[in-house]
Amino acid sequence: MGWSADEIDTESAHSARMYDYFLGGKDNYPPDQKAAEKVLLVLPNARTIAKNNRYFMRRSARMLAEEAGIRQFLDIGTGIPTSPNLHEVIQQIAPESRIVYTDNDPIVLTHARALLTSDPQGETAYAEADLRDPGSILNAPELLETLDMSKPVALMMISILHFVPPEYDHYAILDELVSALPPGSYLALTNGTADFAPEEMKRAAAVYAASRVPVRQRPKKEIERFFHGLELVEPGVVPIHRWRPDDPSLGELTDAEVSMYGGVARKP
Ligand code: SAH
Repeated sequence: MGWSADEIDTESAHSARMYDYFLGGKDNYPPDQKAAEKVLLVLPNARTIAKNNRYFMRRSARMLAEEAGIRQFLDIGTGIPTSPNLHEVIQQIAPESRIVYTDNDPIVLTHARALLTSDPQGETAYAEADLRDPGSILNAPELLETLDMSKPVALMMISILHFVPPEYDHYAILDELVSALPPGSYLALTNGTADFAPEEMKRAAAVYAASRVPVRQRPKKEIERFFHGLELVEPGVVPIHRWRPDDPSLGELTDAEVSMYGGVARKP
């Protein structure tokens, strides 16, 4: 799709490929592996965190399709495809659904084919765009061709906002995106936190920072603020494994092991 492997920066670690490594994927390079192994030394449950983030994505997507009746999804910071991907979860419930994926890592673009396997009744698209510039997402031709922005959209911000560098205003970025959505739209968001395992998470953040991948962990109050002006659905902002768990094994995890908050809210 216009990108070849030599255009991908394989010299430095990248969050998408570190995340892929934690999930047991094969789309990562030695610098990603090295950085991820360093994170695992200080945060041995990094794999649990990544997996639970995927589970939250699936449960929240199912709720949005089944209960909220949402048929359009905008997924920002998609990551390297990991089955089941968002459109697979949603189109199993509502095959006519339309999904736009976005990420700024060229490696995700090279794998976009796995995201473009829409049910013929619906549609999926991939836009390379950068969350630091929300306009690049909102004005992406792939988005404009795929989504009807006058009808409700679920904005999926799953483990992405905390990777936006600290010099950017995370609240303003989110506000610009949510403002572009009509009433009846939804926001699903997860963000790392140091609330439960402050020492471990601080050390993990330092390892990320040393690999030039800044990660912004936040206390609960700051994550609740992301939903300002929106109506949180039950159970509100909680550690992600406590958000509408669908498997008894999730109850055995501690908040410290997961260290990520998540929530879903409706735009009135
Ligand atoms: N949402 C996925 C992947 C999370 S990993 C999931 O929950 O499974 C974080 C992703 O955000 C990576 O793929 C990374 O490339 C992407 N990302 C980081 N900074 C970004 C930015 N400024 N704009 C767009 N995507 C970004």
